[in-house]
Amino acid sequence: MASKPGTTPTAESNSSKPNEDNGCLEKRELLGSPDCRKTSTCASSLGSEQAKRPLQGLKLASHEVLEKAQLTGRLKCSNCSGSRMFYCYTCFSLVGVSQRDIPKLKLPLKIDVIKHPNETDGKSTAVHAKLIAPDDVTIYTYPCIPEYEGERHNVVLVFPGPGAVAVEEMSEQLLEIAQRRSVSSFEEPCSKRLKRDEESEDTRDAESKPNACPLQRVVFIDSTWNQTNKIITDERLQALLQVELKTRKTCFWRHQKGSPETYLATIEAIYYFLKDYHVQCLSQEYQGEYDNLLFFYSYLHQLINKAKHSAGKL
Ligand SMILES: [Zn+2]
Repeated sequence: MASKPGTTPTAESNSSKPNEDNGCLEKRELLGSPDCRKTSTCASSLGSEQAKRPLQGLKLASHEVLEKAQLTGRLKCSNCSGSRMFYCYTCFSLVGVSQRDIPKLKLPLKIDVIKHPNETDGKSTAVHAKLIAPDDVTIYTYPCIPEYEGERHNVVLVFPGPGAVAVEEMSEQLLEIAQRRSVSSFEEPCSKRLKRDEESEDTRDAESKPNACPLQRVVFIDSTWNQTNKIITDERLQALLQVELKTRKTCFWRHQKGSPETYLATIEAIYYFLKDYHVQCLSQEYQGEYDNLLFFYSYLHQLINKAKHSAGKL
C-alpha cells in the first residue's frame, strides 16, 4: 500500500462544518497555545509559508545523531538481522543510534497502537512513538489486542466516524459514561469511595475537580484505510468512545492519492491528540512538551523533501 491514511482521517472535508477551522483557531489562541497558529495553519487553507512547512518551529532534540547514523548507512538489527537505518521497525529497537542520544518522553496518558498484521512495517510511524516514549506506548498486532471492557470511562479510540466526538467534548462524554457506570453498578462507587479515602490529598483534589478528564489510555489504529475496517468493527473496540481530530492536515510524505490531506500518519495523530489534550483537558499552555515525538518523523520528512527537491519534484 502506497501510503497510510493513518489512523485519523479527519473531517476537514466535512462540508456541514465549514467554520470548524476558524472556530478552532480562535479557541486555541484564547487558550494561549503559543504555536497553535503554526499547526492550525497547517490545517487551514491560508496557504502561508508556515502551512507549507508545518514541521518548522518544533522544539526538537538535535538531529546530529541521525545525521551521523545516516553517514554510516544501514546496519544489521542485532535482534532480527534485518538491514535497518536508525531503528528496527520489526523489533522496535534502535539500530546504529544509542538510547542516550535520542530524546525520551514521559506522556500524560498511555498509548495503545493496534497494527494490522499486513501493514508494511517499514512504513509505519507508530514505532517512532514507541522509541521516544517506551514506557507509555504499546504496539499490538491485530487480532491480539487488550480487552477494554470495564474501562469505557477512561479509554478512547481515536478514529473518525459518525459517532466520533472532538477532543474538547471528550471529557464531558467520559464523565457521563463514568456516571452511568456508577448508577448501573451500586457496589462499585462504594468501593471506589473507600479506596479514594485512603489516597493522598493531592490525588483526591485532582479527582474531585468537577471537570477533571478521566482519560487514562488512548487507542490508535495503525493501518491503511482498506485494512482498518476489520479492526474498527471488532467488538472489543466498538464500545469505546470515538474521538476525532478535526482540523489537522497531514505532513505525511506518503500521502495516498485520493485520500483527504487530513488523513494523518499515526505519529502525527498521536502528537496532535496529546497537544489538544494538554491544552483542552489539562488546561495548560502548550510549550512544545510532546514535540520530540516527531524527532524521527521531522528528520525523515526533511530527507524526503530534500530528495524531492533534487529530483526536481518540488
Ligand atoms: Zn529487528
